[in-house]
Amino acid sequence: MKTVYTFGGDAPHDESRQKDKTVTGGKGANLAEMAGIGLPVPPGFTITTEECVRYLQEGADFSDQLRADVANALTHIEGAVGKRFGDAADPLLVSVRSGARVSMPGMMDTVLNLGLNDATVQGLAATSGDPRFAWDSYRRFIQMYSDVVLGLDHGLFEEALEIAKEDKGYFTDTELESEDLEALVGEYKSIVANELGNSFPQDVTEQLWGAIAAVFDSWDSERAKVYRRLNAIPGDWGTAVNVQAMVFGNMGNSSATGVAFTRDPSTGERSYYGEWLVNAQGEDVVAGIRTPQYLTKARREAAGAELPSMEEAMPKAYGELARVFDLLEAHYRDMQDIEFTVQQGKLWMLQTRSGKRTAKAALKMAVDMAGEGLISEEEAILRVDPMALDQLLHPTLDPDAPRDVLGEGLPASPGAASGKIVLDADTAELWANREEEVILVRVETSPEDIHGMHAAKGILTARGGMTSHAAVVARGMGRPCVSGASAVSINLAERTLRIGQRELKEGDVITLDGSTGKVMAGRVPTIEPELAGDFGTLIGWADKYRRMGVRTNAETPEDCRTARQFGAEGIGLCRTEHMFFDAGRISAVRAMILADDEAGRRAALERLLPEQRGDFAEIFRTMAGLPCTIRLLDPPLHEFMPTRDAEFADLADDLGVDIEHLKRRAAELHEFNPMLGHRGCRLGITFPEIYEMQARAIFEAAVAVTGEGGEPVVPEVMIPLVATKKELEILRALVVRTANTVFEEMGASVDYLTGTMIELPRAALMAGEIAEEARFFSFGTNDLTQTALGVSRDDAGRFLGSYVDQGIYERDPFVSLDIDGVGQLVEIAVERGRATRPDIKLGICGEHGGDPESIAFCEKVGLDYVSASPYRVPIARLAAAQAALKAKG
Ligand code: PEP
Ligand code: MG
Repeated sequence: MKTVYTFGGDAPHDESRQKDKTVTGGKGANLAEMAGIGLPVPPGFTITTEECVRYLQEGADFSDQLRADVANALTHIEGAVGKRFGDAADPLLVSVRSGARVSMPGMMDTVLNLGLNDATVQGLAATSGDPRFAWDSYRRFIQMYSDVVLGLDHGLFEEALEIAKEDKGYFTDTELESEDLEALVGEYKSIVANELGNSFPQDVTEQLWGAIAAVFDSWDSERAKVYRRLNAIPGDWGTAVNVQAMVFGNMGNSSATGVAFTRDPSTGERSYYGEWLVNAQGEDVVAGIRTPQYLTKARREAAGAELPSMEEAMPKAYGELARVFDLLEAHYRDMQDIEFTVQQGKLWMLQTRSGKRTAKAALKMAVDMAGEGLISEEEAILRVDPMALDQLLHPTLDPDAPRDVLGEGLPASPGAASGKIVLDADTAELWANREEEVILVRVETSPEDIHGMHAAKGILTARGGMTSHAAVVARGMGRPCVSGASAVSINLAERTLRIGQRELKEGDVITLDGSTGKVMAGRVPTIEPELAGDFGTLIGWADKYRRMGVRTNAETPEDCRTARQFGAEGIGLCRTEHMFFDAGRISAVRAMILADDEAGRRAALERLLPEQRGDFAEIFRTMAGLPCTIRLLDPPLHEFMPTRDAEFADLADDLGVDIEHLKRRAAELHEFNPMLGHRGCRLGITFPEIYEMQARAIFEAAVAVTGEGGEPVVPEVMIPLVATKKELEILRALVVRTANTVFEEMGASVDYLTGTMIELPRAALMAGEIAEEARFFSFGTNDLTQTALGVSRDDAGRFLGSYVDQGIYERDPFVSLDIDGVGQLVEIAVERGRATRPDIKLGICGEHGGDPESIAFCEKVGLDYVSASPYRVPIARLAAAQAALKAKG
C-alpha cells in the first residue's frame, strides 16, 4: 500500500486511492484532482491518513517505508520545480499542512517556508533578488516552526518583533528593512537557544520530519479533540500531511494571497466572493491580522471600501481566477472554497473544497443549482444537511422593535441572539452552565476559544474578516456572529469594553444580529421564522420523495400549531403528564398521588377530569382530524411530589389534612430508582382510576370535537412502559370499557385505536405476543436506550461524555440511536410485531425521531412514521426524504 502520493508537475493522478479523502484527506484528494484537470497546483506530495494512524498507534515512530517514500517524493518536487531541498545556492522551500478527511478549520498545524537555514536564506536572497523577502521568510519560518514544532510560546517572538519595530520607530511590519529582519532572525535564534538549550535546527531534513511529526501529533491536540467531539468526527481517522513547493504571495506588489468562494457563502447568491491581500502570505488572511480587501469591484463598491479589489488591481490574475472558479464549479458541481496565491503575477491554486455555508446559503444554492441544471432535484435534497436547517428555524429580530445600536461589524453568521457579555471562553462556559445566555466578545477568536463559542448564544469580535476563525467556526456551529467590529475595544483587566462612545461591562446584556452585523444594547425582541422561499421549495421537493410520515411530540395547543406550521402530519406523542405541571393543577395531582386510598384519589381525579378534557379538545381542534397519539400517564411520580415545606403546607391547607401526615405519606412513596419504579403502565395497573379518568377525558373530548363538524377525531390511546402482554390486555380492556361507557352516555362514538410503546427490552423481544393486543407500536427509544444500555437517563450526563471521547459510543446514544445494540431490539420488535399483525402501525417517538442518522435507520427497518419535537419537524421531513433516496440507491 502506498504511503505517499505525488501531485503536480508530471505526476500521474489517476489512482483512485489518491482521490479518496479517507486516504489522502480532503486537501490532498482535491489537490490531486485539481492537478489532474490541469489547474496550476504547486507540485507536492501527500502522506496518507493511514500513516498518521500508524504513527500515533506505534508511539510516534515513522516506518522505514515512509522515510523512503518521502525521500522519493521530495525528488519529484525537486524535479518539477528545478530546485533542490537544502541547496544553499537555489533552495527549494516547502509548506507542510495537515488535511483530514473533513475540514477542521484552524484545528491542526501548518508550517510554511520550510527549508530555510543560515545558508539557504542567502541563496533565496540571491535568486529572488530580494534580500528583505528572504530574511522576512526566514523570520516567519523560525516563528512558525518554533511555535508549531518546538512548542515555544508564540508571544516571545511577537514581543521581539514589537521591540525591533519600536527601536526603529516603525508602526508596521512592512517598514522593517532587510538588515532589521536579519538582526531579528538572530534575535529569534537566541530565543530558541535560550528556551530549549539547543540551537534552531539547520538540517532541512530534520526540519521536514519535525514538521510532519507535529502535524501528526496535532491530530490528538486538545483543541482538535474538542472540535471532533462537537462535530462527531471519529478519533481514529487521522490526518494526512501535504508537503508542497512554496509559492510566495509576499514577493512584492505583483504578488498576493487570498481565499474565495465561487458563490456567496452567507446568502448563497451566485456571485464570486472573497478576500485577498497584496504582498502577504496565506495565513495573514485567515488569521485576521490585516484587514483584507474585496475580491470583486462590485463588492468593494457595495461596501464603500477604498482599497482596490483584485479585479481592479490585478485584472489578469483575476481573470484567470474567475476562469478557474467556473471550471471548479462545473467539475465538482458544488460551491467551492478556494485558497490561492499569486506569485509575481502568476496564479497558483493551493486548495479547493466544497465550501462551508450558512443554512440559508445551502438552501439557496441547492435550489438554484437544481434550477440551473447543474444538479438534479434529488441531489438538491441530498445537498442540505438537515441539522443545518436548525439555523433557519431560529428567531430573527422583530423589525418593529426599537433598538439602540451600539456599533456594527461584518454579518459573519446569521441569526439574532441576546445575552450577557462575557470576555473569555472559560467564563462563557461557566456562565452557560449556570443556564445563563451569554455573548462571547473577543478581539478575535482562536481555536482555544472553541468551547466558549459553543457555550455562547452569539459571538462578537473586534477584528477579522468574513473568513476569520470566528466567522468560519460560528457559521459551522450555527451561532450568530458579528466579526471585525472595529469600534469594539476590550479592557480585559477591568472586564469592560467600549463600543464606540459607550462603556459596557461583563454581564451587561447586548443583542447581535448576525445577518446585518449590528450590535445593540439590551435585549431586542425576536420573531419566529417561517418556512417560505427556498426553504419551502426544498422541503416541498423532499415531501415528494419521502416514504415515512412525520409527526410531532407535542402537548400544548401552541406546540401543535408550531408543529403543523412546520408540516407535522399528526401527533406521535402527547405526554399527558406534561399537562399536569400547571400551577393550577399541580395541587390536584399531588392530592391524587398522596391520597391514602382509592376514594381520595378519585376525588382528586374528579378535579383533573375537566381540565384534561379541555386540553384534549383544544389539541384535537388544532390538529383538525390528523392522527393524535395520546399517551396515558407515564412518569415517575416523584417528579410531582412536593419537596419544599411551603409546598407541603399549601397542599395540607388545600386538602384540610395534617402536614406531617402528608410528609409521612411522601416518605412512604419514596423510590430509590424512580425511572425503574412505579411509573408507566404500572400506575394504571395499580391505580386503574387514573387511566380511567384520562381515557374518559380523551373520549369525551373526541366525541365533542367530532360533533362540532370538521374532520372526525380518531384518537390513538397509547399505554407506556409495557413489558408483558398481560399488562396491555388489562389496560386495553379498561380503555375499551371506558370508551363504551362514554359513547353510551354521550349517544355518539368515534373510531379509535389502542396501542403501546415499545420501550423495554422485554417488550421488544415479546413483540409478537404484545401485538395481539396492540394496533400500533411506538418505539420509546429514550427508555429503550436507558434500559438496554443500563444507563440512567438522569445520570448519564456525568459520564457519557467521556465514553464518547474514548470512542466507546460514537455519539451520545440518547441523541443518536445506538443502531448496533438498541437498533437490533427495534428490528426484532418490527419483525415479530408484523408477523402477528401485518398491518400494525409502527412509529418512533423517542428523541431519536428528530435525529437524521436515526431517521435513516427507521427508514431501513420500514417504520411508518417518525415523531419529533416541533422545531425538528422540518429536519425530520428532509432527513426522511434523504433516507428514502439513499435507500433507493
Ligand atoms: C421514550 O421513552 O422514548 C419516550 C418517548 O417517552 P419518555 O421520554 O416520555 O419516557
Ligand atoms: Mg418513555
